[in-house]
Amino acid sequence: MSAAFSGSSSTSTNGTTNGVNAGRAGTATPLRHYIDVAVIGAGVIGLAVTDALIRRGVDVVCFDHRKPGQGQSGGLSRTFRTRHDSPHVVKLAADSRVLWREWERRSGKTLVGDEGTVYLGFEEEDAHGLRVNDVPHRFAAPAERAQLFSALGPVEGRLLHDPDSGAIRARNTIDALTGFTAGRIRPTEVHTVTVPADGDGVELQTADEIIRARHVVIAAGTNTPRLAAGVGIDIPLNCALHARPHYRIRNEHLANSQPCWVDKSGAFGETVYGSPIGTTGRYVFGLIGTGVDVPMDGNGAVPPGSAMEDHVRRVSEYVRRAMPGIDPEPVGVRVCVMTKLPGGSDAFGVWQNGGVTAVTGHNLFKLAPVLGEKIADAAVHERVPAEIVEATATAPA
Ligand SMILES: Cc1cc2nc3c(=O)[nH]c(=O)nc-3n(C[C@H](O)[C@H](O)[C@H](O)COP(=O)(O)OP(=O)(O)OC[C@H]3O[C@@H](n4cnc5c(N)ncnc54)[C@H](O)[C@@H]3O)c2cc1C
Repeated sequence: MSAAFSGSSSTSTNGTTNGVNAGRAGTATPLRHYIDVAVIGAGVIGLAVTDALIRRGVDVVCFDHRKPGQGQSGGLSRTFRTRHDSPHVVKLAADSRVLWREWERRSGKTLVGDEGTVYLGFEEEDAHGLRVNDVPHRFAAPAERAQLFSALGPVEGRLLHDPDSGAIRARNTIDALTGFTAGRIRPTEVHTVTVPADGDGVELQTADEIIRARHVVIAAGTNTPRLAAGVGIDIPLNCALHARPHYRIRNEHLANSQPCWVDKSGAFGETVYGSPIGTTGRYVFGLIGTGVDVPMDGNGAVPPGSAMEDHVRRVSEYVRRAMPGIDPEPVGVRVCVMTKLPGGSDAFGVWQNGGVTAVTGHNLFKLAPVLGEKIADAAVHERVPAEIVEATATAPA
């Protein structure tokens, strides 16, 4: 897995308290402002880190030129699933589930539903991480399908059930985090991140000012590699587009809770993932595997003649074959940006160099509460916590 960690962390300190201060005693300059920690990006990860830093009493400012949650963290729904190939990532996910409940308590909102996740085409070895981390799960007989996932048609083979998981309410989550971090978000784009020649902290350039921070966290989604390159961190991130068509659950199944879904069996002609969209009566699917993302053009748009329409057609055909309880006519399609590392769709990385921590990868939404805590610790102690080193080192290559 591609996580690179290298030393030379900045040790400068400053005496700022809250917000962005104009200069330090004795070194005041109208051009530079000093803060302790700057977080770049108000997606779910940047907001989670900002919240965790605020709770540690840190002077933190989160920069984003867009409204929070307008990047990859946009939309209504994500899957929270505990199962991963790496037992270390399973542990992080299980810890994250506990922290999700804490976010729910603080916000007073449901953020992860109790729908559970059902997997088809998974064997005992796929549940290794769940077993060694004592995460509740079981293999159910095919005949139990109607109780576990009423919209699903008959299947051959056992179903793996991960009950302590469900559909993330993505928009509620962004709203909750925006509330937790109120007053710390600056509507400003950061153009560059560099280590200044005098070695005193890390410098951010915006259109209006130069900011010095003791530590900078880059959680800027697709822009993370470009910004991190300014401090010598090289991130091999591939950005591409992915179709997520959504469908209407048929009336007779609306009273039943439908779980999140991962089918790698290929029994219905495709490998797919899916998730209910909260309580909207809709269900979203996407393709899994190689070739299911479409390269974007120079403007980040779907290029003409791309395979995107064919992907939607393939998903609809899958729904028609596998899901009699769901109408296979799509009612909408969300085109999403995927940011994948060479390690695959569950791989993520945290890099640290010169007073900067950068984080990126894919499928990070479910891990946001635990990554927020760990990356806040990385910024405070200038060291990536061991759990993150293990989880990023053992993700499948
Ligand atoms: C189709 C799809 C399905 C997914 N399914 C799941 C799932 O089921 N489960 C799951 O856990 N995850 C899932 N994910 C992944 C998950 O949504 C992302 O990993 C997560 O939202 C990434 O959050 P982020 O905060 O890192 O990035 P983003 O949400 O992209 O946030 C980055 C922010 O940085 C800001 N920014 C960028 N450049 C600058 C700059 N120069 N200055 C200031 N601000 C800047 C942007 O405006 C943006 O708001 C899915 C993603 C997609 C696209």
